[in-house]
Amino acid sequence: MLSEFNLIERYFTRAPKPAGPVALGVGDDCALLRPFPGMQLAISTDMLVEGRHFLPAADPYKLAHKCLAVNLSDLAAMGARPLAFTLAFALPAAEPTWLAAFSAGLFHLADQYGCELIGGDTTKGPLNICITVFGELPHAQALRRDAAQIGDDIWISGSLGDARLALAGYRDELKLTDAQFADAMVRMHTPTPRIKLGLALRDIAHAAIDISDGLAGDLGHILQRSGVGATLEIDSLPAGPVLATQSTTLQRNFTLTGGDDYELCFTAAPAQRAAVLVAGRLAATPVTRVGRIEADTGLRLIDAQGHPVSIALTSFDHFRTP
Ligand code: ADP
Ligand code: MG
Repeated sequence: MLSEFNLIERYFTRAPKPAGPVALGVGDDCALLRPFPGMQLAISTDMLVEGRHFLPAADPYKLAHKCLAVNLSDLAAMGARPLAFTLAFALPAAEPTWLAAFSAGLFHLADQYGCELIGGDTTKGPLNICITVFGELPHAQALRRDAAQIGDDIWISGSLGDARLALAGYRDELKLTDAQFADAMVRMHTPTPRIKLGLALRDIAHAAIDISDGLAGDLGHILQRSGVGATLEIDSLPAGPVLATQSTTLQRNFTLTGGDDYELCFTAAPAQRAAVLVAGRLAATPVTRVGRIEADTGLRLIDAQGHPVSIALTSFDHFRTP
């Protein structure tokens, strides 16, 4: 049986890169970070709980990817560069095969973004994984939720709704072919944090948020914090490739309210349209203009002809009773 310390040593300890931002990594009472002079730290935590965010039989490699990806996505949404992260988790048992796969999935994604594991906490209990990420960004350049301005365009990265479609597949809400279900599941289980796009948007965008609970709800946070409203052109919302094969009604619904895609929703002045497109190309991430920030509060939907559309807006809330 692995001891707590063997487990940490074997699966979660690697020497930090010399000359990087980590002065001291795993193994002491605290890790030490040395942010570059003039930079601010961006810090975010996300916890994933078995039975709530993932199924008990979840593949450990993909689970690790998702746990870190959703945290990196928060850094992306602020325009921050990842530096390091901590991992605190409760595990029912120290199972070597599970731990090896979890650790491989974790470091594979961490290495893609140069984000180092610097510490954490390990305890026995029902599976529960909590990651805290640390990033950095120059003063006054964060893409904050309260920074949308009247007249801004609203943009979405990548595509929406395929993760929600995978959930519909699991719940037997609709029939998908095996290939469609497999593609949708990739979106649900292994989201891509839009770090490069967030960095490229630093001098260009005003406000940003990552879409974890559904566009309507997450854009709603920007609107509320910025004290503004918006109109979205519903049929210009970029549906994921699998969702694009479904009915218009389903496309409208899932692009607007489906969660778990981890795309960025951001606002930028119309004068920045060309710059936003260049940022998208630099980040190899498609960007689509979908609406406009307005002085009238609330969220309005229109179709391609400009006619009002009404859809019941529900985004995910853990504490709301159905
Ligand atoms: P303490 O008793 O001071 O809280 P711990 O015994 O919990 O320290 O942890 C020992 C060291 O291992 C610390 O540096 C801690 O950050 C690190 N650590 C514990 N669990 C993990 C983990 N899951 N991943 C990475 N580092 C970990
Ligand atoms: Mg501890």
